[in-house]
Amino acid sequence: MEKIKGTNQRAKEYKIIIVNGKKIYEYQHIWEKHHGKKPKEMMIHHINYNKKDNRIENLMLVNRKEHGKLHRKENKKIIHCREDAYKVILLTG
Ligand SMILES: [Zn+2]
Repeated sequence: MEKIKGTNQRAKEYKIIIVNGKKIYEYQHIWEKHHGKKPKEMMIHHINYNKKDNRIENLMLVNRKEHGKLHRKENKKIIHCREDAYKVILLTG
């Protein structure tokens, strides 16, 4: 595991992989393999709120507004599914 500045404890739970030399969230990569390129303005939500559960059936495309609502509804304080949240890179080849 390689640390870069501003390591964020919460963000450590995201798994990041390198695809064609580009860093990408594993969940995003999995979603895109099934559905094609993710629209920029949309976010991928983990349905069961488990950031490590990157099974396609646990991933759901939502817009920011819906995403905020989902998290408020579940009263989850954790930040997840945020594309700018990660600070730790896991190299998985
Ligand atoms: Zn979410």
